[in-house]
Amino acid sequence: MTDAPDQRREDMLREMGISPLWRLRAAAPVAMPPAPDAGAGVLAAAEPPPAMPPAAATPATVIDDMDWAALKSCVAGCTACGLHQNRNRTVFGVGDEQADWLFVGEGPGADEDAQGEPFVGQAGKLLDNMLAAIDLKRGANVYIANIVKCRPPGNRNPQPDEAQSCAPYLKRQIALIRPKLIVALGKVAAVNLLGRDASISSLRGKIHDCNGIPLVVTYHPAYLLRTLQDKAKAWEDLCFAVESMRRLQSATLAAT
Ligand code: URA
Repeated sequence: MTDAPDQRREDMLREMGISPLWRLRAAAPVAMPPAPDAGAGVLAAAEPPPAMPPAAATPATVIDDMDWAALKSCVAGCTACGLHQNRNRTVFGVGDEQADWLFVGEGPGADEDAQGEPFVGQAGKLLDNMLAAIDLKRGANVYIANIVKCRPPGNRNPQPDEAQSCAPYLKRQIALIRPKLIVALGKVAAVNLLGRDASISSLRGKIHDCNGIPLVVTYHPAYLLRTLQDKAKAWEDLCFAVESMRRLQSATLAAT
């Protein structure tokens, strides 16, 4: 007889379109690279960019010292790039502020812009199912954020200057959360967090470094909704992430 948690996972995997192919199990050991590759993404700039920042931008060095309340209020009033002109709500991020897991998407869509919370539309439903398939849920040891906090018009990708303007906020969120593992959802998140252009396929299945925090890459849920055949690969990525997290947690325990 299948017990209730197994049945729930089975339902989630079916929903993701990957059952009965994949099961979360005690995975084979994952080789952690001796030294992560250098991360120099949009988060790396400790100082404001050399070009004159827009007048309304709060200096990155000021954001670096903010607590959660100051940071939330700063984001809510941000006019540092053109994206603020069309937004209804800023989308700060949501979840456990001391989470081990940080999932990063690219930017809010229409539903998120209306509700002020990341991943609440169709892609968000799939993300919730992906989380459930590995026994996670939003808010419980999981934080979800985006590269940009305001909706790019027509759901286009954020432009480099917009990602750069918003980067100090995500950088501060990461510093406050101190996650054990970042999961970059899609190419925009991966490229901005790692600071180099690369395909998702070349980045999958490896541990990267984002300013000292291990980072893994998988497909964006919105892409998976359109490209069913890659859901199985996303499941592999989630299993890799779980195994990586187990190792990181064991390493932390061993060090204490
Ligand atoms: N896509 C994203 O990248 N982020 C969201 O918050 C919603 C959809």
